[in-house]
Amino acid sequence: MPELPEVEIIKNNLSEYMIGNEFISIKINTSKLRYKIPHNFDETIKNSKVIKIERIAKYIIIYLSNEFKILVHLGMTGNFLISTQKTHSLGNGPGKHIHLKFFMTNNVIINYHDIRKFGFFKIIYPDNLVLENLKKNVGIDALSSKFNTKYLMYKLKNRTGNIKTSLLNQSIVGGIGNIYASESLFRAKISPLTISKNLANDKKKITKLISAIKYILADAINVGGSTIKNHTNIKGESGYFQYKFNVYNREQMKCKRLGCNSLILKINQSGRSTFYCESCQK
Ligand SMILES: [Zn+2]
Repeated sequence: MPELPEVEIIKNNLSEYMIGNEFISIKINTSKLRYKIPHNFDETIKNSKVIKIERIAKYIIIYLSNEFKILVHLGMTGNFLISTQKTHSLGNGPGKHIHLKFFMTNNVIINYHDIRKFGFFKIIYPDNLVLENLKKNVGIDALSSKFNTKYLMYKLKNRTGNIKTSLLNQSIVGGIGNIYASESLFRAKISPLTISKNLANDKKKITKLISAIKYILADAINVGGSTIKNHTNIKGESGYFQYKFNVYNREQMKCKRLGCNSLILKINQSGRSTFYCESCQK
């Protein structure tokens, strides 16, 4: 499932190819995604120019010159692959999972690829307040400068659950998924079992956690770079890049921290897997 870094990269890549360009036409191969593609999708966005693309948590919002917006969610395996008129015959490769094709005035074709088909596209009408509601329901974005020590101390001070579960709570902070929650806690040397309100009293540790989260997300975005630019780069199920994890999916493997000989543990917290090192994370 794409997490914040992947969605941020995809948003940046889409921005590069879409902003300032118009949609010439949209070809819909499959309208049955998580929600059915609206029947007026093509006619609403055709001939409009993309003026801005924004990310709210894991949603991508494409602003159009006709004041409509497109709300995109990538679901489990959604991704965009870029091709040109010359290269767009994709044969039997990723082609069969391409459900939409956006033909742009810059001669680029933006292909929506989604193996599991849990992603969706919705049209937001000019006066609809869906974005305002979305913004209200998600906490401050993990990449925002407003996500800081003071904010997190305040948000955690009455929480009796563990910190790992709090980090996944999108009303506290938007965009941290299961993988990066484990990785951030490892980097900050904080046990995922720590009770949130106890951690809230420790300013130093909260500061460390914030900088670990920001470091790891920024690093992942950096590593992921522009791997989705070319559809021939698609690898594995989804084509998302693989960030080098320190603890995630490393159960019973040796801890990567120098001098530590412990093995990474896997536990279950609120129905999700958590990976951590008992020796390094206190
Ligand atoms: Zn360790």
